[in-house]
Amino acid sequence: MKLSVSDNIKKLIPYPPGKPLKELEREYGISDSIKMASNENSLGPSPKAVQAITQALANLHRYPDGSCYYLAASLADRLGVKADELVFGNGSNEIIELLVGAFVSPGDEVISSQPSFLVYQTMVQAQNGINRVVPLKDMRHDLDTILADINDRTRLIFLDNPNNPTGTVFNRKEFESFLSRVPETVIVVLDEAYVDFVDPSLQLDVRDYLGNNTAVVGLRTFSKAYGIAGLRVGYGIMNAEIADYLHRVRQPFNVNELAQVGALASLNDEDFYQKTLSMTRDGISWLTTEISKLGCKVFPTHTNFFLVDVGLDAKLLYNKMLTRGVIVRAMNAYGYPFFIRITVGLPTENERLVKALAETLEEMRNG
Ligand SMILES: *Cc1c(COP(=O)(O)O)cnc(C)c1O
Repeated sequence: MKLSVSDNIKKLIPYPPGKPLKELEREYGISDSIKMASNENSLGPSPKAVQAITQALANLHRYPDGSCYYLAASLADRLGVKADELVFGNGSNEIIELLVGAFVSPGDEVISSQPSFLVYQTMVQAQNGINRVVPLKDMRHDLDTILADINDRTRLIFLDNPNNPTGTVFNRKEFESFLSRVPETVIVVLDEAYVDFVDPSLQLDVRDYLGNNTAVVGLRTFSKAYGIAGLRVGYGIMNAEIADYLHRVRQPFNVNELAQVGALASLNDEDFYQKTLSMTRDGISWLTTEISKLGCKVFPTHTNFFLVDVGLDAKLLYNKMLTRGVIVRAMNAYGYPFFIRITVGLPTENERLVKALAETLEEMRNG
């Protein structure tokens, strides 16, 4: 082979594929391990989604509906927007990719924060765009520095609110002051993957800005509160003109049939949704108390996950937790070598986590 590969592609680092749970268990000689590392919903999928998908299996020989007609209609109704203001994707990750594909040409700039969701930067680099990265300030988006970094080549600004991994939010006043100073040529992308977990008094709603001079696109997902990360469904809420451009660059059948059916059923499972919210609230509160007792600093959060400063090498602690069958995320790669990120689990999982953490801390502190 004599491939001609551009530098931006050569320099991309593939997303580290975590080993399948079964493989880890085999390697470490453990069973019943629990994963509290990826901000998934530990309640499992909504039973209604499982039932709907089971019924849809007989139609797998057909291509899916390329417009997500029923899902769009139902969601538009619920959100009070028009169906043509919604674009669905293979996870909200795909909407990120579509936005970059439609609006970023080689040499154009995109601003995002560090640490923040890693996918923004990957997509930009893949399109030969330029990443302008602004460090978080006090673990929050530094909106003033982001404004100062805008120039003629700026096309998009990605803001995950709440931020992953810190769990912090900005408020309505901060956002509106920011937005009023962003040029109309720039699209502000508000990634609301965790919006469901935010206290309603702090929720900032992208729908309030659809008619704004400066374009705002909201990203939401069925992967977290709705419990179907494995199906891959997310969507963007945006002005219909922007949506039209995204439809031009997307694949015709980007959201598969089971994903559409599962998302629609999840959307209508209010019981599951409310259970998720209360489990998350209670779990965060309990874990914060218990982990603080172990002498670690637990950071406040507006999501289903939180950071913990363990004061020790996080990677090593991660490995030791793993041998006890509890999987958390070490934050070394995010620039926090002493932090781990924990996703709330079921009460029994939370208890196991605290026990494993206590044992691990004792082992490391005495070692
Ligand atoms: C989990 C997450 C998403 C969701 O991505 P999907 O592709 O919808 O699964 C998006 N943004 C952030 C910040 C996340 O943490």
